[in-house]
Amino acid sequence: CIAYRLNTIPTSSELPSRSYRPRWRCLATQTETATAPRQSDNAKERVVILGSGWGGYSLSRRLSPKTHSTLIISPRSYFVFTPLLTDAASGSLDFSNIVEPVRDPRAKVDFLQAAARAVNLEKKTILCEATVVKSGVTESSRTQDEERGAEKGPGTTNLKPEQARLWEQGEMFEVPYDKLVIAVGAVSRTFGTPGVRENAMFFKDIGDAKRVKRRVRECFELAVLPTTTPEMRKWLLNFSIVGAGPTGIELAASLRDFIHGDMMALYPSLEELPRIILYDVAPQVLSMFDESLSRYAMETMKREGVEIKTSHHVKSLRWGPPGASPPYEMDPKRCLTLTTEEDGEVGVGMCVWVTGNAMPKFVTESLDSVDPFPKNSVHTIEQSSSAPVDLEKSSWKFKKAPRKGPLLVDGHLRVQLQNEAGQTAVLKDVFALGDNAMPETNGPPATAQATFQEAKWLADRLNKDDLDQARPFSFRNLGTMAYIGSERALMQIPHKSDGGKRKYLPEGLRGRTAALVWKTAYISMSFSWRNKLRVAFRWTLNKLFGRDVSRF
Ligand code: FAD
Repeated sequence: CIAYRLNTIPTSSELPSRSYRPRWRCLATQTETATAPRQSDNAKERVVILGSGWGGYSLSRRLSPKTHSTLIISPRSYFVFTPLLTDAASGSLDFSNIVEPVRDPRAKVDFLQAAARAVNLEKKTILCEATVVKSGVTESSRTQDEERGAEKGPGTTNLKPEQARLWEQGEMFEVPYDKLVIAVGAVSRTFGTPGVRENAMFFKDIGDAKRVKRRVRECFELAVLPTTTPEMRKWLLNFSIVGAGPTGIELAASLRDFIHGDMMALYPSLEELPRIILYDVAPQVLSMFDESLSRYAMETMKREGVEIKTSHHVKSLRWGPPGASPPYEMDPKRCLTLTTEEDGEVGVGMCVWVTGNAMPKFVTESLDSVDPFPKNSVHTIEQSSSAPVDLEKSSWKFKKAPRKGPLLVDGHLRVQLQNEAGQTAVLKDVFALGDNAMPETNGPPATAQATFQEAKWLADRLNKDDLDQARPFSFRNLGTMAYIGSERALMQIPHKSDGGKRKYLPEGLRGRTAALVWKTAYISMSFSWRNKLRVAFRWTLNKLFGRDVSRF
């Protein structure tokens, strides 16, 4: 963080009009930090939330404005309703139907469009980089590579790394907090598979969904060009998805509906050519569902024309068509070659990579060592059986799950530190929730459902100011759903077993009834009435006029 440039930002008195003045005053330089007032003007507790996703956005909407002055810091000025991202990518919904703006005159929440780059636990400040004018709004690793001007691939800039950095670097500033909530989510995991970071598409945000939709349309237009060879036509219309979890399955199903339900009417000459191929290294899809439901999903999707290649290991993804020899060059039509151990090389027009979560750099690198030890912020220190150590002299790190995993939090979602003697210190004013956090015991899955419950639990505790007396957070499983195409879905319903623990009904719910429940559930879960009505209206319109096939 020393390398970052610290810029002076205007104070509220320098801003043009009263209505634009933030309720928050940022700290312009590190020297000022020491003397800046630690309380906001109205002496409410300042809660800074990093991230505007399921965790950050839901928490901000539930914190009481009477007792808290809430600020969201996020590179994204909107919240994305991720369960419907596949519907937006396949033209069933408009992108605007699934986003909520973070700025909302009714919510008494402030917002700064910036990415957190470092936290100073001693001074209780966050170092931020403004991202308002940056091209990539999410902190996906792909964007980071592009910023660095790293390996060249489709989508990378032609700038030299130094130029790219200058161009892309936002202004730096510090923000003080009384309580900090870390909810920066996760990025896509590639398992280091060669060529994936540079050539695959990821599927986490609106920008990703737009790219997928645009590329599908592009591949069809390229395929009908008279200059396209029959072989290239076949490759361009191979749409591959790697990862057969709920996101991969729903994306394959929605693309199938889009291509066979809408696109084929526009390109009758290409009939029989499009293939949707779903790869997974596991022998089964949707492993979190009961086996009978997962088998039903595989059979239904195969019958509808989705090729499911389980027990397949993707070795690489590279530029150019199959059969080419190195050095590989980008084909003008941007065809790629996907290589699996089992099938060898196959030409594809697009590869979407959805194989799970990795931690963003902010968690893996910025939240690492802690110096000095923030003794004013410590809630408890776990007694260690080893010889007593000097707390301030020992080296403390954020406690994380193994292999660069999420931050380990206690049952009250408080972030923990660990020293070399194995002692654990719990921070009293830094919390983490959502995909970037994991309670050490009974950790819930990395889902929107669990994140939303964590955010609600934490907001209630902070509003009532009873965190220390409260029972630890516990996840309540309300069931799992997945759309599998052709107006069919799966639903795993939990029920109470004798032991009082929630368990799934083995048979669950499947088919058209489950699809109806799926749609009703997501309409009711959409945050604003505007989007509830828009989603319901668009799904009805699709029945009459088909999906949106435009290419933006
Ligand atoms: P996110 O919602 O990802 O939000 C992270 C936020 O942090 C973003 O606003 C990001 O811009 C911001 N950020 C990133 N870096 C920084 C930084 N350095 N500083 C400040 N802010 C930063 N779950 C379900 O339960 N059901 C589903 O049907 C379902 N479907 C899904 C479909 C898709 C396509 C995807 C991608 C996920 C789906 N999930 C689903 C999972 C669910 O979306 C995640 O578990 C949930 O979003 C996690 O919430 P979060 O707040 O931790 O992270």
